Amino acid sequence: MGARGQRRGGRHTPAANGSKWIRRDKRLAIYLRDGLTCTYCTRFYPHIELQLDHYARVEDGGTNEATNLLTVCRSCNSAKTNLTIRQWYGALRRRGDCSTAVGRRARAWKARCLTEHRERAKELLMAHGTMVAALAVHIVDRQRKFGPEENP
Ligand SMILES: [Zn+2]
Repeated sequence: MGARGQRRGGRHTPAANGSKWIRRDKRLAIYLRDGLTCTYCTRFYPHIELQLDHYARVEDGGTNEATNLLTVCRSCNSAKTNLTIRQWYGALRRRGDCSTAVGRRARAWKARCLTEHRERAKELLMAHGTMVAALAVHIVDRQRKFGPEENP
Protein backbone atom coordinates (compact mmCIF):
# COMPACT_ATOMS: atom_id res chain seq x y z
CA MET A 1 0.00 0.00 0.00
CA GLY A 2 2.12 2.84 -1.30
CA ALA A 3 -0.52 5.44 -0.55
CA ARG A 4 -0.34 4.90 3.20
CA GLY A 5 1.93 7.10 5.26
CA GLN A 6 1.75 9.88 2.73
CA ARG A 7 -0.74 12.03 4.56
CA ARG A 8 0.32 15.62 4.90
CA GLY A 9 -1.95 18.13 6.63
CA GLY A 10 -4.88 15.72 6.29
CA ARG A 11 -4.56 15.43 2.52
CA HIS A 12 -3.08 12.61 0.53
CA THR A 13 -0.13 13.34 -1.67
CA PRO A 14 -0.12 11.44 -4.95
CA ALA A 15 2.69 8.94 -5.35
CA ALA A 16 5.36 9.38 -7.99
CA ASN A 17 3.22 7.41 -10.46
CA GLY A 18 0.48 10.00 -10.05
CA SER A 19 -1.58 8.77 -13.02
CA LYS A 20 -2.11 5.42 -11.29
CA TRP A 21 -2.88 6.83 -7.86
CA ILE A 22 -6.46 6.52 -6.68
CA ARG A 23 -7.77 7.71 -3.32
CA ARG A 24 -8.53 4.97 -0.83
CA ASP A 25 -12.20 5.96 -0.35
CA LYS A 26 -12.73 6.06 -4.11
CA ARG A 27 -11.04 2.68 -4.48
CA LEU A 28 -13.29 1.18 -1.80
CA ALA A 29 -16.38 2.84 -3.33
CA ILE A 30 -15.62 1.16 -6.67
CA TYR A 31 -15.14 -2.20 -4.95
CA LEU A 32 -18.53 -1.74 -3.26
CA ARG A 33 -20.17 -0.60 -6.51
CA ASP A 34 -18.95 -3.81 -8.16
CA GLY A 35 -20.09 -6.00 -5.24
CA LEU A 36 -16.47 -6.84 -4.25
CA THR A 37 -16.52 -9.02 -7.35
CA CYS A 38 -13.99 -9.42 -10.15
CA THR A 39 -15.51 -8.08 -13.37
CA TYR A 40 -13.67 -10.69 -15.40
CA CYS A 41 -14.08 -13.97 -13.47
CA THR A 42 -16.96 -13.04 -11.05
CA ARG A 43 -15.21 -14.49 -8.01
CA PHE A 44 -15.52 -12.26 -4.97
CA TYR A 45 -13.74 -11.02 -1.91
CA PRO A 46 -12.43 -12.47 0.45
CA HIS A 47 -11.71 -15.36 -1.92
CA ILE A 48 -9.81 -13.00 -4.20
CA GLU A 49 -7.50 -10.03 -3.72
CA LEU A 50 -9.23 -6.92 -5.02
CA GLN A 51 -7.53 -4.56 -7.44
CA LEU A 52 -8.63 -1.92 -9.94
CA ASP A 53 -8.17 -2.07 -13.69
CA HIS A 54 -8.56 0.71 -16.24
CA TYR A 55 -11.17 -0.04 -18.92
CA ALA A 56 -9.32 2.19 -21.40
CA ARG A 57 -5.59 2.03 -20.66
CA VAL A 58 -3.88 5.12 -19.30
CA GLU A 59 -1.50 5.17 -22.28
CA ASP A 60 -4.56 5.18 -24.56
CA GLY A 61 -5.98 8.22 -22.78
CA GLY A 62 -7.94 6.33 -20.10
CA THR A 63 -8.50 8.33 -16.92
CA ASN A 64 -8.90 7.54 -13.21
CA GLU A 65 -12.59 8.43 -13.40
CA ALA A 66 -14.81 5.80 -11.78
CA THR A 67 -16.44 5.31 -15.19
CA ASN A 68 -13.09 4.00 -16.45
CA LEU A 69 -12.28 1.78 -13.47
CA LEU A 70 -13.33 -1.78 -12.74
CA THR A 71 -12.89 -4.11 -9.78
CA VAL A 72 -10.76 -7.07 -10.77
CA CYS A 73 -8.88 -9.79 -8.96
CA ARG A 74 -5.14 -9.99 -8.77
CA SER A 75 -4.98 -13.16 -10.85
CA CYS A 76 -7.11 -11.77 -13.75
CA ASN A 77 -5.24 -8.48 -13.57
CA SER A 78 -1.88 -10.18 -13.87
CA ALA A 79 -3.17 -12.48 -16.65
CA LYS A 80 -4.44 -9.44 -18.55
CA THR A 81 -1.01 -7.77 -18.29
CA ASN A 82 -1.11 -4.62 -20.42
CA LEU A 83 -3.58 -5.85 -23.03
CA THR A 84 -6.28 -3.48 -24.28
CA ILE A 85 -9.81 -4.54 -23.38
CA ARG A 86 -10.30 -5.86 -26.95
CA GLN A 87 -7.11 -7.91 -26.86
CA TRP A 88 -8.17 -9.17 -23.44
CA TYR A 89 -11.57 -10.33 -24.78
CA GLY A 90 -9.62 -12.28 -27.44
CA ALA A 91 -7.50 -13.89 -24.73
CA LEU A 92 -10.66 -14.78 -22.77
CA ARG A 93 -12.21 -16.44 -25.83
CA ARG A 94 -9.05 -18.48 -26.38
CA ARG A 95 -9.21 -19.76 -22.81
CA GLY A 96 -12.88 -20.68 -23.28
CA ASP A 97 -14.55 -17.82 -21.39
CA CYS A 98 -17.53 -15.91 -22.74
CA SER A 99 -16.05 -12.55 -23.66
CA THR A 100 -19.47 -11.17 -24.59
CA ALA A 101 -20.69 -11.62 -21.02
CA VAL A 102 -17.48 -10.11 -19.65
CA GLY A 103 -17.76 -7.14 -22.01
CA ARG A 104 -21.39 -6.57 -21.12
CA ARG A 105 -20.58 -6.75 -17.41
CA ALA A 106 -17.62 -4.37 -17.71
CA ARG A 107 -19.66 -1.75 -19.58
CA ALA A 108 -22.61 -2.04 -17.19
CA TRP A 109 -20.59 -1.96 -13.98
CA LYS A 110 -18.39 1.00 -14.83
CA ALA A 111 -21.51 2.99 -15.73
CA ARG A 112 -23.14 2.47 -12.32
CA CYS A 113 -23.57 5.48 -10.07
CA LEU A 114 -20.89 5.78 -7.38
CA THR A 115 -22.48 8.40 -5.10
CA GLU A 116 -24.06 6.17 -2.43
CA HIS A 117 -21.02 3.86 -2.41
CA ARG A 118 -18.72 6.85 -1.87
CA GLU A 119 -20.69 7.80 1.24
CA ARG A 120 -20.58 4.24 2.51
CA ALA A 121 -16.84 3.92 1.75
CA LYS A 122 -16.00 7.14 3.60
CA GLU A 123 -18.13 6.07 6.56
CA LEU A 124 -16.51 2.61 6.73
CA LEU A 125 -12.96 3.92 6.43
CA MET A 126 -13.59 6.64 9.00
CA ALA A 127 -15.02 4.16 11.52
CA HIS A 128 -12.74 1.21 10.88
CA GLY A 129 -9.46 2.70 9.73
CA THR A 130 -8.09 0.30 7.17
CA MET A 131 -9.39 -1.08 3.89
CA VAL A 132 -9.30 -4.66 5.20
CA ALA A 133 -11.26 -3.73 8.36
CA ALA A 134 -13.77 -1.72 6.31
CA LEU A 135 -14.29 -4.63 3.91
CA ALA A 136 -14.72 -7.08 6.80
CA VAL A 137 -17.38 -4.89 8.45
CA HIS A 138 -19.16 -4.39 5.14
CA ILE A 139 -19.31 -8.15 4.58
CA VAL A 140 -20.64 -8.83 8.08
CA ASP A 141 -23.33 -6.14 7.61
CA ARG A 142 -24.28 -7.55 4.22
CA GLN A 143 -24.48 -11.12 5.55
CA ARG A 144 -26.76 -9.90 8.31
CA LYS A 145 -29.07 -8.48 5.65
CA PHE A 146 -28.85 -11.12 2.94
CA GLY A 147 -27.32 -14.23 4.54
CA PRO A 148 -23.92 -15.74 3.82
CA GLU A 149 -22.72 -15.95 0.23
CA GLU A 150 -21.66 -19.14 -1.50
CA ASN A 151 -17.98 -19.81 -1.82
CA PRO A 152 -17.38 -19.68 -5.59
ZN1 LIG B 1 -10.78 -12.38 -11.70
